[in-house]
Amino acid sequence: MAVGILPVQSDPTLLADIRRYGKFDPTGCYQCGSCTLSCDLVGDSVTFPRRSLRFALLGLRQLLVENLDPWVCHDCGDCSLVCPRQSEPRISMLTLRRFLSAQYDWTGIASKLLQSKAWYLGSLLSVAFIVLFLIVGYHLWYVGMAAKDFATTPFGLDHMFPLMTYYTLTVILAPLLLLFSRVFRIWRLTMGGERQARVPLSLYVLEAWVYVYQSVTDSLMRKCPQKGRWLGHWMMASGVVMMLTIKVFALRWFQTDNLYPLYHPQRWLGYLATGLILYGLADIFAGRLRAQKEIYKESSFQDLIFPILLVLTVFSGIAAHTFRYDGFALTCHFMYALHIIIATPMLLVEMSFGKWSHMVYRPLALYFLAVKEKAAQQAPAAEVVPHAL
Ligand code: SF4
Ligand code: SF4
Repeated sequence: MAVGILPVQSDPTLLADIRRYGKFDPTGCYQCGSCTLSCDLVGDSVTFPRRSLRFALLGLRQLLVENLDPWVCHDCGDCSLVCPRQSEPRISMLTLRRFLSAQYDWTGIASKLLQSKAWYLGSLLSVAFIVLFLIVGYHLWYVGMAAKDFATTPFGLDHMFPLMTYYTLTVILAPLLLLFSRVFRIWRLTMGGERQARVPLSLYVLEAWVYVYQSVTDSLMRKCPQKGRWLGHWMMASGVVMMLTIKVFALRWFQTDNLYPLYHPQRWLGYLATGLILYGLADIFAGRLRAQKEIYKESSFQDLIFPILLVLTVFSGIAAHTFRYDGFALTCHFMYALHIIIATPMLLVEMSFGKWSHMVYRPLALYFLAVKEKAAQQAPAAEVVPHAL
């Protein structure tokens, strides 16, 4: 059977479902194509980004969920600037990514967090209070410290090991495992349905480099006219990955009471990762303060909370480091506890269900699109059915 001719049903509830995830108002769109002409990421497509909006407006739920286009969009906003109907395709694509993220998550938690500020804030605060309880409990019952000594007894960092290693591995690896556990579901939704052509396994292997390459370089974003945006985004992502790698593989080396000279590689690696993250954050906040870029004109609640949490995590880490080197052991101890209380909910909630999940979804979508493209090139002509939309 030719691919793409299975009947599709219109779902009248789809629009309302999508709007639970943010602003989605392209109803004035008359398919003029100005957004397609303005977008630097269009490639060979003549329907990007309009096709996704069309699926949503027509209630074509299955086609929308199979669609990977929203992950190609890099949120620059050029399309919204030229849209004659003020349909704001950038914001619609942003909302579609949130909608799709919820479809990919088999736990159902992403759906609740992405729809509701109360759920999102509540989960962050709940995790923060649990971490506070764990820290207090650790000192009271594991270390055997009297409550009255909390404010007066200076501790080094070494006393936390080896428990701190297990804790850090759990907090970083659990969200990563959760994210990668969705890969099969995403494959099934976007590549494995009846409507999809069967793709030989060899193509998945041959195109696997796309996933790695896009994860490391985010090269598609370089096509955006605002070159500085790619640099800021890439530096922040690289800094975060470098910092997480340090925490997973070299925590004991970094969280130590040893004081190293300024030229020591342990210090420079930490400073490099911190500097990269700070550069990316400065770029985001400068853009928001100036509010000149279209991208910053409308943001979801979660998009605002994420950089704030990252700033608080970075500055509490810098403060703990500074107090340690200046000999303020007690203040360092409290600051480190605060650092953990902020960083843990950010990692558990954001990486598992929020903004950070696009670090896995976007390269995966580009990889699947590359596989689809190769499969289409190899398919017999009779199998290729032009898309009607
Ligand atoms: S520019 Fe606006 S009206 Fe034209 S196709 Fe794009 S979203 Fe629709
Ligand atoms: S926001 Fe930018 S990348 Fe996304 S569809 Fe519009 S022009 Fe293209």
